[in-house]
Amino acid sequence: MNAEIIAVGSELLLGQIANTNAKFISNQLSELGINVYYHTVVGDNANRLKSAIEIAESRANLIIFSGGLGPTKDDLTKETIANHLGVSLTFDETALNYIEQFFAKINRPMTENNRKQALILDGSEVLANNHGMAPGMILEKNNHTYILLPGPPKELEPMFQYEAKPKLVARLNGESVIMSHVLRFYGIGEAELEHKVQHILDTQTNPTIAPLASDGEVTLRITAKSNSEQVAKDLIKTKEDEILAIVGEFHYGNNDDSLASKLVEMLLHNKLTISAAESLTAGLFQSELAEISGVSGTLVGGVVTYTENAKINQLGIEKSLLDQFGIVSQECAAEMAVKVREKFGTDIGVGLTGAAGPEPHDGQPAGTIWIGFSIKGYEPVTRQLKLSGMRNTNRLRAVKLAFSYLMRLLAEKGYEKK
Ligand code: ATP
Repeated sequence: MNAEIIAVGSELLLGQIANTNAKFISNQLSELGINVYYHTVVGDNANRLKSAIEIAESRANLIIFSGGLGPTKDDLTKETIANHLGVSLTFDETALNYIEQFFAKINRPMTENNRKQALILDGSEVLANNHGMAPGMILEKNNHTYILLPGPPKELEPMFQYEAKPKLVARLNGESVIMSHVLRFYGIGEAELEHKVQHILDTQTNPTIAPLASDGEVTLRITAKSNSEQVAKDLIKTKEDEILAIVGEFHYGNNDDSLASKLVEMLLHNKLTISAAESLTAGLFQSELAEISGVSGTLVGGVVTYTENAKINQLGIEKSLLDQFGIVSQECAAEMAVKVREKFGTDIGVGLTGAAGPEPHDGQPAGTIWIGFSIKGYEPVTRQLKLSGMRNTNRLRAVKLAFSYLMRLLAEKGYEKK
């Protein structure tokens, strides 16, 4: 099965909203191992929508529509599909009752155009809308499956997950079990990772493997289909072992893990406390850690020391050191890590300093960042980054790299991952 998503709505073309529905649906379909080859966006115009449907029919057998199911005149998805396929629209009693009850409940008169929302394509199965009024539908016709979903994400997302997805699963060759497992990698680019496992990607059938890169992180989603849960699990495990034998050194976690959650897990497991002195990241390191529940067992505190004076006054760094080496320097990062560890009495101190960009800072080119790590009982260690992203990308990358380096550093010192 391969799919195309058609998002209908002039507001998408005008740049007023982003097509997050296509992102959501694609993500869901990849979990099912269904390939999405095209995303189309078309305005509220019947002729152009009809052309978009014809094109989609020539290259996909599953076509999913988002938007245009509402009561107003520009909501014309259903009518256009009905016209194109030569099927009529009929009232669905359940949907009509639901809409009538909704208006009774809010004590407002129901206008005639609201009845229109209960019209469904003849021969389709209704997808209940538990968060709004317009029902969705799924229709099989001429070897194509058409799924119509409402535009608002809070309606579309649950409808897809709880109404449409089970029906799609049932259509997937009778293979009723679909399992996914996400492997997370850091410290390796998408191109390099793909290159290393290319032979596995080239020969994938079941399980399928979908790579994805974001924020410097790469994931591989392994999806297996089978009639039995155990077989699906085994298929995934075999593929996982094969992949990790090649790129295991960059693997840090699975599924919903994040670098921050794995670091917090490791710190808690080893009963280590941490503090941070932040310059270019201005609190982001601590903020990312604080997203993880239970972090109070390890994160003691920290300081934002943006200027030279703040580094001197808050941390007690010698002015002569900053004069000699500069703020964006190995020496400054190491000293920030040591001083913050001492100030907060923690086992680990981290110092982040650098030129976030786009301008050079302290004579250093944009993207030059130093991270210092001070672990009690050891000499401080530093890492230099030379990043080429935009300002805020660089700041977030620095934080994520700090998490990943620290985990490696602790592992080298013999601390267990958990
Ligand atoms: P309604 O009954 O609200 O009119 P509808 O099914 O007719 O629902 P639209 O009118 O096309 O849907 O869109 C309603 C709202 O849903 C839009 O104003 C927008 O906020 C959101 N929306 C529509 N399409 C998308 C999309 N592709 N991605 C994200 N949000 C969307």
